[in-house]
Amino acid sequence: MSEKRDYYEVLGVSKNATDEELKKAYRRLAKKYHPDANPDNKEEAEAKFKEVNEAYEVLSDSQKRKMYDQFGTADPQGFNGAGGPFGGQGGYYSYTTSGFDGFGDIFGDLGDLFGFGTGRSSSKQANAPTKGADLRYSVDLSFEEAYAGVSKEINITRNEKCPTCSGTGAKPGTHPETCSVCGGKGTVTKMQTTLLGQMRVQSTCSNCHGTGKVIKEVCDTCYGKGTVRKQARINVKIPAGIDNDQTVVLRGEGEPGKNGGANGNIYITVRLKKHSIFTRQNDNVYCDIPITFTQATLGADIEVPLIDGTKVSYKIPEGTQPGTKFTIRDKGFPNINSGNRGNLIFTVQVQVPKRLSKEQREILVELAKTMNEQPPVKKRGIFG
Ligand SMILES: [Zn+2]
Ligand SMILES: [Zn+2]
Repeated sequence: MSEKRDYYEVLGVSKNATDEELKKAYRRLAKKYHPDANPDNKEEAEAKFKEVNEAYEVLSDSQKRKMYDQFGTADPQGFNGAGGPFGGQGGYYSYTTSGFDGFGDIFGDLGDLFGFGTGRSSSKQANAPTKGADLRYSVDLSFEEAYAGVSKEINITRNEKCPTCSGTGAKPGTHPETCSVCGGKGTVTKMQTTLLGQMRVQSTCSNCHGTGKVIKEVCDTCYGKGTVRKQARINVKIPAGIDNDQTVVLRGEGEPGKNGGANGNIYITVRLKKHSIFTRQNDNVYCDIPITFTQATLGADIEVPLIDGTKVSYKIPEGTQPGTKFTIRDKGFPNINSGNRGNLIFTVQVQVPKRLSKEQREILVELAKTMNEQPPVKKRGIFG
C-alpha cells in the first residue's frame, strides 16, 4: 500500500477543525472526486475518493479522531502490524468472469492501479488467533559468567494485556459488540466495475477494521487497543557453557497473542566479551604461558591459570621448544548440551632475559664455551 497521507491534509482542514468544518470539507471533496464526476480520470479520482472517505470516517468519529491524534492511527490492529497504520486493510480481488490466464499478474497490476496493494494473503481472517510478537535482546557476558552459568536481570519494554479492560479494549462493564456491517467476519465483499469488467472485491471491513467487533465505549487506559506498553525487569538463567551468538529462549514472555493466540517469545542472544588472557574455540580454551629459557631447557613445574580463577600445576619436560602446545584435559567450557568439558590448551612463550647479573653472565659464558661457541666480548652489561 502506498504511503498514508495525513487525514487532516487529505481533507485540507486544520488539526482543530470543528465537526462542521470537517463535514463541509468532506462534502466538497467527495463531490469533486466522485468517480462518476470524473469519467476521463476515473482511476485517480477513485483513489482520491477512497482517501477522502477514509479520512472523514476517522475524523468524524470523536473516539477514532482522539486515537488518531494520539497514535497516528485509529486502527487497533495498526499498532502492532508490520504494515504500519491500517496495514491490514489491503483488499483482494477475485475475477468473476472466466477466460483469463496469468491471474496473478493481473491481480498485481490491478492492486497497484487501485492503490489497494497486492496483499491478497493479508486478507486472511483478521479475527483469527494470532501469535504475539517475539522480542529480541542481547546480553554481554564475561568468560567467567559463561563458564559457570549466571542469572542476569534485563530491562525490557513490551505490550502487556491492559489491566483495566483485561484486553478487550472496551470500557469496564461494556463488551465489544459483533460488527453489524460485516456480521463479525471482518471482511466485506463488493462488486466493482473495472477495466476488466465486473469484479468482486473483498476488503477488510472498514467499520471494525477486520476485527469483526466494534467497541462502542473505549477503555480509557488503552484506548481500545487492549494492551499497554510496560517496562519489565526479567530474570534470565543463562546455562554454563553458552557461547557467543547462542540464544536463550523465554517462551511465552513476549507480547500477548490476539484472539486467543499464544504469546510471543523473548530471544536473548549472548555476546561474549573478550578476555585478557583466554580465547575460546567451541568448548576449548586457549592461552599463552610465558616461561624462562632455563625452564624450557631444564624442564619445570609451572602454574597455569584457569577460567574459574584457580591455578593448576603442570610439569613441562626439559628441552621444551618455544611455541609448544600443551593440553590440560577437561579444564575448558562445559558443553552446553552434553555437559562434557573441553580442554585448556596453552602455548609456551620462551622469554629471553634482557639483563643478567655478572655471575649469571659468567655461568652462561662457560656454558657457551662447552658448546664450542665464541661469546662476544662484553661491553656494558648486555649481550651484543
Ligand atoms: Zn484497556
Ligand atoms: Zn466489520
